[in-house]
Amino acid sequence: MNGGSGPRREVSYSRNVFLPVTNLCRNRCAYCGFRRDPNDGAWFMSPAQVLELAKRSKVAGCSEALLTLGERPEVHAEAKEKLEAFGYGSTIDYLEYLCKQILELGLLPHTNAGLLNERELRQLRRYNASMGLMLECAAELPAHAQSPGKDPKLRLEVVKTAGKLRIPFTTGLLIGIGESSENRARSLLAIRELQAKYGHIQEVIIQPFVPKPNTPMATYAGPSEGELLATVAMARRLMPEMNIQVPPNLVRDLNQFLLTGANDLGGISSVTPDFVNPEQPWPSVAELRAAVERAGFVPRERLPIYPRYVKDEKFMSREVRMSVLALADEDGYRAC
Ligand code: SF4
Repeated sequence: MNGGSGPRREVSYSRNVFLPVTNLCRNRCAYCGFRRDPNDGAWFMSPAQVLELAKRSKVAGCSEALLTLGERPEVHAEAKEKLEAFGYGSTIDYLEYLCKQILELGLLPHTNAGLLNERELRQLRRYNASMGLMLECAAELPAHAQSPGKDPKLRLEVVKTAGKLRIPFTTGLLIGIGESSENRARSLLAIRELQAKYGHIQEVIIQPFVPKPNTPMATYAGPSEGELLATVAMARRLMPEMNIQVPPNLVRDLNQFLLTGANDLGGISSVTPDFVNPEQPWPSVAELRAAVERAGFVPRERLPIYPRYVKDEKFMSREVRMSVLALADEDGYRAC
């Protein structure tokens, strides 16, 4: 954990800009309200759109550029055409270009692009301070029946490869998508096993499924707050040293989650909404800090790379390291 051992434990968060590069995706997860079909609300952000938002967020004080997109969008001809119009042969080449530009602006990219192979991870590592892929669940679930990219074996393989490449990595569980309590425990154990071997997992997110209209799971109830709290407690028990994150816009009783063992509140933005849960606004930084203090903890702003990796140059490319050191304080948190 990033906090100390005394009663005034630290609770971290980062200020980010959410850059939803494209909502085209090869998968069809039954709960997803983000994905769109071509000619039905799909978008593919141009370099100018991405960089304009990144510049605005820099002015607003963000340090993290979260690039999130559907997996393998090129399965759609529309995505290929967009990429060609932008001058790129693949989504990964395009992301590499965007991340390089964003890094030069003084922001730290964190990309979440779905399943990637070793060559692609290596390519993006050069300009990313950290990367992420939610495991969601280590068991096969009906919600993923039309999502080849949600094969848990393939996702664990990506987390493992990121470990071999020493990429500070974010993963986590999506709660309430049809998994059992045992599935959750096994998911956490799978993450713990990879962390024990590679030491690169910087945080585990415990994220609730929130039902979305016009999706196959629109009428499903989301998980109860009790189920979420039980999962946070289980994660804390199985991984005492891990950073456990809960999204502050998706839980009601933040106090309880912090007392149960969560010690990170993820990225929040004053520039962009949470495009995955746009109906759930983030709190402001001031509201978030006040809530953490009310609960008896110390709020600390971090970078998208956690303090322990800031201090270990093996986990950064030369390009990323220069930008990280320009933003970090002596403890590895955000300096200013
Ligand atoms: S992989 Fe992500 S973007 Fe694609 S359908 Fe599933 S949840 Fe939605």
